[in-house]
Amino acid sequence: MNIPFLDLKAAYLELKAEIDEAILRVTNSGYYVLGPEVEQFEKDFAEYCGANYCIGVANGLDALTLSLRAMGVTQGDEVIVPSNTYIATLLAVSQCGAIPVPVEFNELTYNINPELIESAITDKTKVIIPVHLYGQPVDLDPILEIAEKYGLKVLEDAAQAHGSTYKGKKIGGHGHAVAWSFYPGKNLGALGDGGAITTNDKVLADQLRTLRNYGSAQKYINIEKGYNSRLDPIQAAILGVKLKHLNQWNARRQKIAEMYFLGLSGTNFILPEIIPEANSAWHLFVIRSKQRDKLQDYLQAHGIQSLIHYPIPPHAQCAYVTELSHLKGKLLLTENVSNEILSLPIGPHLSEESVSYIIDVLKGFS
Ligand SMILES: *Cc1c(COP(=O)(O)O)cnc(C)c1O
Repeated sequence: MNIPFLDLKAAYLELKAEIDEAILRVTNSGYYVLGPEVEQFEKDFAEYCGANYCIGVANGLDALTLSLRAMGVTQGDEVIVPSNTYIATLLAVSQCGAIPVPVEFNELTYNINPELIESAITDKTKVIIPVHLYGQPVDLDPILEIAEKYGLKVLEDAAQAHGSTYKGKKIGGHGHAVAWSFYPGKNLGALGDGGAITTNDKVLADQLRTLRNYGSAQKYINIEKGYNSRLDPIQAAILGVKLKHLNQWNARRQKIAEMYFLGLSGTNFILPEIIPEANSAWHLFVIRSKQRDKLQDYLQAHGIQSLIHYPIPPHAQCAYVTELSHLKGKLLLTENVSNEILSLPIGPHLSEESVSYIIDVLKGFS
């Protein structure tokens, strides 16, 4: 058996006819930047998320950066982030000249620990960025309460949470703004880069539309120093096709997660925990083992590709050596857990036979 971590080509082939038709519709339309395809996808995705507005941008990093800019984050401000996220969450903060303040997480859900947030707040704090890591929504209500108490904004990083729900409602409209990535490997992925922001705040939405387009709402009138960060219409058309299949594809992921839970219960691997308030989109299925590296080699020897999300926490990266190296050795949970986590294959095109095989191989590990 040879099992890739994620089969992106199979995802394309399942929808090939619809996707090819959507691409041709754009090439034939004469609109190649913004225009009707982007507007249609923004409308569809806002509706899917239960949010009032959606603004398509070039990628997930820009979705975060532009949101922070629109929230007024600037030089010297502090932004609270989880310590175990993908580095993009922190880079967005740095791009605004602000300082990311990493806070540790709950070791079973892997999401930021709301109990540790208050002590990280200073008079420079402007925004909290909860990340719905691995597809499981953060317990948002306590965080929204803290934000209200201190007059802060909440920007959700939902790059891994397309279709996840919190308290029965889709992620996308809980916080002040929600940043999305459509990187190909995400649950809703383009055939290239893409991103978006959803929000219920009209003022913020208007600001974001301007920011993504050179700071201009009206051609050649520039009210601020903006970006060129627009969702490409070809990607928007492709995303529109894939959005119609998202729930069904997430259901396949859910089925695989259930098989892993059932098959791996009673083993020594630590399995993820989902809070009762949440439904995960199962972007990743992450287990823990004290012998992680040996386990990964063993799986590879049996033809099973696994990945690590993420092997080096952002504060320990070279990129943050000047700002955050004082935290090295202090975020112990983050540093220890990063040596134990392993992401198993999961995706809408992973067969149940493959999952059974992976479970059998895992059970043979000692
Ligand atoms: C993928 C991802 C991003 C960045 O998205 P891009 O589209 O690659 O810029 C940000 N945050 C998290 C948690 C991600 O997984």
